[in-house]
Amino acid sequence: MNTTQPLAIFGGTFDPIHIGHLRAAWEASEALGADVYLVPAKVPPHRPQPVASAEQRAAMLRVALAGQDRLQLDLRELHREGPSYTFDTLASLRAEIGADRPLVVLIGADAFAGLSSWHRWRELFALAHMCVLTRPAQIPAMPEELAAEVAPRLVERADRLRAQPSGSVLNMVVTSLGISSTRIRALLAVGAEPRWLVPDALLDDPALLQPYRGTDGNPSGT
Ligand code: ATP
Repeated sequence: MNTTQPLAIFGGTFDPIHIGHLRAAWEASEALGADVYLVPAKVPPHRPQPVASAEQRAAMLRVALAGQDRLQLDLRELHREGPSYTFDTLASLRAEIGADRPLVVLIGADAFAGLSSWHRWRELFALAHMCVLTRPAQIPAMPEELAAEVAPRLVERADRLRAQPSGSVLNMVVTSLGISSTRIRALLAVGAEPRWLVPDALLDDPALLQPYRGTDGNPSGT
């Protein structure tokens, strides 16, 4: 086995999973030569609770990922009690893969801008690289402490992430798909069909997107 093949994770609420997530993860996987685990959060610490349950979100992911094995589903956060901290997820993966294999967090630029509010955020760089996916969202400026942490870690090329197990930050441009779960929930809330925004398989089984129909489309607490 090529031990420098990176393992990448792509976390999120996936409420629901959509083509924007899938395409970004796919392109990053190809560019890094990495296996990618999609890791749904059970209790997202940084945002309102999802509309669909953990089980319902996992069921949608399972259907969305069928037929390929580049992107895999990893349910460790659903099996863990309490808030789904990325630090805990990376620590458990690092224990599994050993100290040397590159571990990469794939993260949208919007989510990355909030990194310095995450649990034990500075220690994330000791566990993994960050691959920041640019997407057509409004990108908030990075707070000063995050910008200072990131500057010396920036690398220009994907193959640099293979040279060491953790600690670098790579900006990666992925195909711009202006799709969000928020928009899909809003469409379903008014009875519209999000065709071509989500994998067809999610529409083939009416039960899968049912949690969003007849709601106001908002996660609880907003
Ligand atoms: P919501 O609209 O509910 O906030 P979302 O569509 O942003 O959801 P999340 O599950 O919150 O999806 O995002 C998980 C990860 O996917 C984050 O790192 C986010 O930046 C990234 N992401 C979301 N949408 C896209 C997209 N269209 N292209 C690339 N990355 C995306």
